[in-house]
Amino acid sequence: MEQQSNQKTAQQQDEHEEMQHGPVPVEQLQTSGIASIDVKKLKDAGLCTVEAVAYSPRKDLLQIKGISEAKVDKIIEAASKLVPLGFTSASQLHAQRLEIIQITSGSRELDKILEGGIETGSITEIYGEFRSGKTQLCHTLCVTCQLPLDQGGGEGKAMYIDAEGTFRPQRLLQIAERFGLNGADVLENVAYARAYNTDHQSRLLLEAASMMVETRFALMIVDSATALYRTDFSGRGELSARQMHLAKFLRSLQKLADEFGVAVVITNQVVAQVDGSAIFAGPQVKPIGGNIMAHASTTRLAVRKGRGEERICKVISSPCLAEAEARFQISPEGVTDVKD
Ligand code: ATP
Ligand code: MG
Repeated sequence: MEQQSNQKTAQQQDEHEEMQHGPVPVEQLQTSGIASIDVKKLKDAGLCTVEAVAYSPRKDLLQIKGISEAKVDKIIEAASKLVPLGFTSASQLHAQRLEIIQITSGSRELDKILEGGIETGSITEIYGEFRSGKTQLCHTLCVTCQLPLDQGGGEGKAMYIDAEGTFRPQRLLQIAERFGLNGADVLENVAYARAYNTDHQSRLLLEAASMMVETRFALMIVDSATALYRTDFSGRGELSARQMHLAKFLRSLQKLADEFGVAVVITNQVVAQVDGSAIFAGPQVKPIGGNIMAHASTTRLAVRKGRGEERICKVISSPCLAEAEARFQISPEGVTDVKD
């Protein structure tokens, strides 16, 4: 009997510790006097964590049906008590940043210029021509994110939003074998959804948030983030509507990165650059999505084809990485170093 109660205490302690590390479930607002019916309304609006509430502008909360202005203010007050929103010292931030996990790309040379791999807690954009290896890199990350931390993994599941219909579970099995992981487990740990239009693609992020509250995810992929925007919006006339929709989508992705500490990886297509600079620099391509896209991604990587299966990845912009280039290869077992 005593042993049983000890076990229970240990379990409660585990749960408590887990809560301290991960995001705070929105239900926690009830301890600050927010009614459960209002908590449910927040959840229905896609706000599953206290962080999501705390990071939302007041005007967005006011749009939630059935929550009065007075209640919104009470909710904001309660959320800001549970989630730190003020200043912190740079040394504390430095300590926190040292804890950020990087997920290996599968290529040591590529990991080197990324200082470890794809960073969790922010958005990494990979753009490049067709067949440049964007989707292959996404497949590799779906497997490596499941590896233990000491093997360059993120010890979490992967989520994959596929806008182009090019996800192949078979590839994951081949890659899993290389890392000595059980194929069936690897597939079980990847949540997959096909996106059919831009509204649907955005709605999927609501479901993603509620799944991330339940289980630890390390990676979120959108391949590609922009493809459906090119078909859903056409011509100059719809350009501003397209950019606004895209900005909102990218902001929701950033929220997932902030709330759950997942690595968000989005791929992007390119178009030929037609302005004057191309004349001097030879044939050039530029990523689509304009400034909205450029500003939303913390790290931008450009991939291009080299000889045969060889590919080259270049760091285009990053708050702390140098503009270096690395070679990698697409192999049956995913992204690897170039095998000369
Ligand atoms: P798109 O813009 O068309 O989506 P992408 O950048 O996503 O292109 P990928 O699909 O990642 O391109 O890369 C395609 C390349 O991967 C092809 O050159 C193909 O030969 C290679 N590839 C695919 N599967 C394998 C495999 N099993 N073994 C080796 N190489 C493979
Ligand atoms: Mg692709």
